[in-house]
Order: sequence, then structure tokens, then C-alpha cells
Amino acid sequence: MNGLKTIKHNFQRWIYNNNIFAFILWTSLIVDAIYLAMFMLISQYILAVVSTFKIVVCISLLNKSDDNGKNSVSQMIAFEVWVYGQMVLYTLFLGVESGFNMILLSMIPTVFFIEYLLRNSSMISYVTSGVICITNIVLISLNDRFAVKDVMNIVWKDIVQSFNWCIAIFLTVFSATIFMAEVFNISNGLEKQNRKLNVLANYDPLTELLLRRPMYEKIEECVQTKKLYGKEYAICIGDIDFFKKFNDKYGHECGDVVLKNVSSVIANDIGSNGHVCRWGGEEIMILLPDTTAYNASKMIERVRKDIEGRTINYKNTEVRVTMTFGVSSSEKYIMSKEVIEAADKALYEGKESGRNRVCSG
Ligand code: GH3
Ligand code: MG
Ligand code: MG
Repeated sequence: MNGLKTIKHNFQRWIYNNNIFAFILWTSLIVDAIYLAMFMLISQYILAVVSTFKIVVCISLLNKSDDNGKNSVSQMIAFEVWVYGQMVLYTLFLGVESGFNMILLSMIPTVFFIEYLLRNSSMISYVTSGVICITNIVLISLNDRFAVKDVMNIVWKDIVQSFNWCIAIFLTVFSATIFMAEVFNISNGLEKQNRKLNVLANYDPLTELLLRRPMYEKIEECVQTKKLYGKEYAICIGDIDFFKKFNDKYGHECGDVVLKNVSSVIANDIGSNGHVCRWGGEEIMILLPDTTAYNASKMIERVRKDIEGRTINYKNTEVRVTMTFGVSSSEKYIMSKEVIEAADKALYEGKESGRNRVCSG
């Protein structure tokens, strides 16, 4: 699995390092070396010279191509012009069928070029891509007129055409793979960014609990569910006991660690039964949809005991905290605001009557 990931990573890095152009040049170099051999065998010396010249051009471009792709637009234009010239010559000398093969073949590097150019997102890239597309269309429509003679015997025609098709298929598959990899990468990137934005907008960075605004949305959902289906909901507010003193004794940093720990204990204990939010400072709100006040009190009592029983390790010191909770539900109140106020009042009563307890309101 790791090996596959490494291959995928290297492949994507390779694409983003703008090495596609170098790949095209290398492919052209090999393909033209094979053409050169074929043209020598069928005594098409003019085409052999053309191929030799193209090999030289490819080597010189390979030498010049830089990783930043600074010269790539001018290099590509030169290369495309050369491909068109070669295509016209091949059609003239090899006949219309092989010549048309050549046009198809020349379209494939063009797909690469356009992909590459568009990734540069500059005006010149868009214009160049447009010119290349239009030139291709014009040349395809004029193709028949280039052919003046058919010089190859039937066997060589088959060989040249089969070779052309092999390369065309290979480059098409390769181009499609790159395209898919890019689309996958882009959609993956967008998804990751969305997830990040969602976390930033809805969650508190210290406790990783919901913020107030998204919690209000959850409460509103409960209000609507009660209206439609008559399902009750409970709201609970918890507050860490003597946290000011705790901070004074152990330091604010230790307080942060404790707050984080307590939040994660509560979030774990509540799980999918409800939503947990950092209501403010060291106050935590728990919303329990489809829950009565009685059941909510029982559930919160278990949470309270869990927090009371835990020791938190901070720089080799074991610390403990307790929490007081106020619980209320929609059974007694119409407005969600009233439920929240009642939970807050119950919390206050819990503090007044000695802390580390669950009070109902
Ligand atoms: P009580 O039992 O009455 O709740 O006493 P308390 O000292 O906890 O009183 P209160 O709830 O009013 O105190 C809130 C304190 O919580 C103030 C502040 O020092 C601390 N606090 C609030 N937010 C944070 C935080 O993000 N990190 C840390 N370390 N402390 C916080
Ligand atoms: Mg407190
Ligand atoms: Mg407080």
C-alpha cells in the first residue's frame, strides 16, 4: 500500500514539476529515431533528413528546458510549428492515409501542450492554446489537398500506420491518466479546503467543540422537530468548579490542558446522543435532542461522575477538577431561549448549593 502511495505521489510531483514537456520531447526523440530507421529502409531519404533534423531540435530543446517552465511557451510554439511542418511533409510523401495518421498523432502532444499551457493561467497561454486548436482544425480540414502521391508499398504502409496507431493509443492513455490524476487532485484539494473551512467556521480551536453559532442552529433544528413531531429536547450547561483558583495554582497553560481534557471526556460520553459546544470560557453546553429532562439528568450525572473520577496528567503533576451542571428541557418551556435560561439558572443553583452536582430547572 505504501509503495502504491509513493508511486502516486511521485507521479503527481512529476506532473506538477512541469516535466510533461520533457516527456513529450523524449517520446518524440524515440519515435523519430524509429521513423528515421524506417525511412532509410524504404528509401525515403528526404523524410529521413526531416526526422534527423527533428531529433536534433528535440535534443537542443531538452537541453534548454528548465524546471520552472519559463521558456516553455516559446519552446512549445516552436515545437508545434515543427510538428505541423512534419505532418504536411509526411502527408505529401507517404500518402493521405499515413498523413492523416500523422495528424492524429500530432493532436496528442497538442492535448498535452494545451493542458500544460492552461495550467500557467496567463493570457499568452490562453491565446497560444486557442491558436494551436484552430490550426489543428484548419490542417485536418485541408489534409486531403496535401496528398499528391502514394509512394509506399502495401507492406510498409501497414507497418508505418500500425506504428502510428500504437503511439497514438499509448499517448491517449497517458494523456487521459494525467487528466484523471489532475481532476482527482483538484477535487481532493477542494474537499480538503472545504473541510478546513468548516472546522474553522464551526469549531473552537482549543477544545475542538462546536462554537455558539452552529450550536444555535442545532437548537433551532430541535425546536422545529418539536413543532413537527412533538419530540422534546434537553439543554444542559456545565461549568468547571473554582477554575479561577485552579489557574492561579497551576497556571493558565495547565488550565488549558484541563479544559481540553474535560471537553473531550464530555464529547466522548455524549457521543451521538447530542451536541457539545464551548458556550464561553470554561462553560460547556450540551444539547440532547429527543430527550426528556429526567433522562438528560441521568445522562449528565454519569458525565459528572466520569469527570470527578479522572486524574489529568500535566508535566508529571496529577490534577483533578469537578463540574457543576444545570439541566432543563423543552417540556416546561415554549421558547428555546427560556430553556437555556432555565439551564443557566439551575447551574447557578448548583454552584450555590455546593458545586460538583447536577441540578434541574
Ligand atoms: P465557579 O466554581 O463559581 O465556576 O468558580 P470559577 O473560578 O470557575 O468561576 P468562573 O466560572 O466565573 O471562572 C471562570 C474562569 O475560567 C476565569 C478564567 O480564569 C478561566 N477560564 C476561562 N476560559 C479559560 C481558558 O480558555 N483557559 C483557561 N486556562 N482558563 C479559562
Ligand atoms: Mg467556573
Ligand atoms: Mg464560568
